[in-house]
Amino acid sequence: MNQKTQYLLASIVESSQDSIVSIDLNRIITSWNQAAEELYGYPAKEAIGKPLHMVMLPEDIQDLIEKVNNIIHEITVPVYETIRVHKNGRQADLEIFLSPVRDEGGEIVGVSTIARDISIRKMQEKQKDEFIDIASHELKMPVTCIKAWAELLFERLESSTDQVNATMVKQLVSQLNKLTGLIGVLLDTTKLAAGEIRLTPEPMDVNEMIEEQIAMLAPISRNHHLIFLPGAIQSVVADRKQIGRVTTNIISNAMKYSPDGGDIIISTSETTDSIKVCVQDFGVGIPVAMKDKIFDRYFRVENPATQTASGIGLGLYITKGIIEQHKGTIHVESEAGKGSTFCFTLPY
Ligand code: ADP
Repeated sequence: MNQKTQYLLASIVESSQDSIVSIDLNRIITSWNQAAEELYGYPAKEAIGKPLHMVMLPEDIQDLIEKVNNIIHEITVPVYETIRVHKNGRQADLEIFLSPVRDEGGEIVGVSTIARDISIRKMQEKQKDEFIDIASHELKMPVTCIKAWAELLFERLESSTDQVNATMVKQLVSQLNKLTGLIGVLLDTTKLAAGEIRLTPEPMDVNEMIEEQIAMLAPISRNHHLIFLPGAIQSVVADRKQIGRVTTNIISNAMKYSPDGGDIIISTSETTDSIKVCVQDFGVGIPVAMKDKIFDRYFRVENPATQTASGIGLGLYITKGIIEQHKGTIHVESEAGKGSTFCFTLPY
């Protein structure tokens, strides 16, 4: 690289809106641009030569050590969110991108950290959560009441000669069921964010629960063929109702995102210390770049084939939260256009 190119690159880094800081392999700051001065409050002169830890929360230091280690071993570190501390003690939410810094010989000699202040976005997300929390709490009571009255009315009409009105009220009850389900999902989302979903663990037979789920879901679509391959698994101690919601969500997603119908294969198996449940479909699949994003709140993949599929992007967020509360794991393997396999584990 000639001197002119080097100068040009340095000036791009210096004038970037994002904070660009490089550290050596011991996490000592080696460069610090103008945006970093503004973001952290330290002038470059003061920051260079100091450990990056000075702008971090103590509990995040171990995580950075692991991430730098990954980079040394050429393992890509996905963009992540964290909190950094300004010289005046103020904390900011940041999105961080780490990449290797190499010497002329290509050897990794440090790490460049690009940080973007996402405090405003975080604040808006918090306001949105608060609004959803209040709105869903306020809606729950009247809607539950209307549903109870509608169900009573339906029972009366059903046993009367007025079958026309009975059919209409049946529709009303069915829509109210959808509405109460939706309000429940919204309430759970805020509960989950606040760590307030309470589990009632009990020994459960997962194969038996899946059979019940399949019996309930299969009649919903004649185009989909739900195939169950139960493995010889032991019972686990888990919250039956919550794990039921997890499997319902994954199986109904498999149906929803296979708009042309087809097989959906549900299987259970055992690993050394857990049971594993997998749901495979042959539907629209998920683009690689979005594989991890689909577990985020409100995230939906835009796909013309499933544009009409209803949803608000909360199901997998809640699903992941429930599985993690059980100390289990969940992941997806997928190829766009070919289908997806969601698997979760529950420890013994
Ligand atoms: P929702 O279905 O309400 O949008 P989810 O949180 O359950 O919300 O799913 C998030 C997104 O992940 C969906 O909008 C969809 O784009 C994608 N997705 C989930 N399951 C599948 C699947 N089996 N096949 C393809 N895409 C899926």
